[in-house]
Amino acid sequence: MNQQTSTDATSAPADRSERQYNFSYVPEVDEWDLTPDADYVYITTNETVNGNQMTTDPVLDAPIIADVSSEFLSRPMDLEGYGLVFAGAQKNAGPAGVTVVLVHDDFLEQKKETLPTMLDYGTHVRRRYNTPPTFPIYMVEKVTRWLRNMGGLDAIHAVNKRKAGMLYDRIEQTDFYYCTVEEGSRSMMNVTFRLQDSDLEDLFLKQAEQRGLMSLAGHRTVGGVRASIYNAMPVEGVAALVQFMDEFERAYR
Ligand SMILES: *Cc1c(COP(=O)(O)O)cnc(C)c1O
Repeated sequence: MNQQTSTDATSAPADRSERQYNFSYVPEVDEWDLTPDADYVYITTNETVNGNQMTTDPVLDAPIIADVSSEFLSRPMDLEGYGLVFAGAQKNAGPAGVTVVLVHDDFLEQKKETLPTMLDYGTHVRRRYNTPPTFPIYMVEKVTRWLRNMGGLDAIHAVNKRKAGMLYDRIEQTDFYYCTVEEGSRSMMNVTFRLQDSDLEDLFLKQAEQRGLMSLAGHRTVGGVRASIYNAMPVEGVAALVQFMDEFERAYR
């Protein structure tokens, strides 16, 4: 699902192509327009700009390479269909500067002979080839330990579903706020929404910030509101946002 610039995130989707250009849903796997006999298929499983997320781990004829940066360690994944998944650690796993790569042995074997040594993951599997960013790696180890102590990926998944559910329920509760992503494709990590009266969005963001609710502005290409509720965001933080949404609606509807 390549990034394309969304033209008008607010208009109601009419037909399928318009739906796709609005990034309001994730197409079913059988709708994907794939090149026959492709060596691999590249996907991004959670899309952070509009807030779309796949709900299944697909299995295709070709191995899948997936950028899972923005949902890594937020849920258990079924890795069967993936040849390689990678995740910049900075969302859920640790500090910026380290990227986690999970690669199938079979997939590793398929490399072209012309691949430079440094760019061949096999090199890094076999030995420590260069000096890695040791402090970020140390922190990722701490985070995985934290996750394991709380009950692992099933436990954090339950927390994440609860957090996202609180926000989507609040958005749906009245027509003061609305979500541009269809049910079934809504991201558990990046909850995006708009205000019916879009003139109020700047005020919403400003007052939120005064309450200590930071970084809620939507991505610069789409605007609106985006709550990125990665693993480190506690339930209490989401509850504070829901409470603010209630108060703002009472004051301005
Ligand atoms: C987070 C993310 C980006 C942006 O990367 P940053 O370095 O954090 O700004 C780009 N693409 C994907 C898929 C991401 O999850």
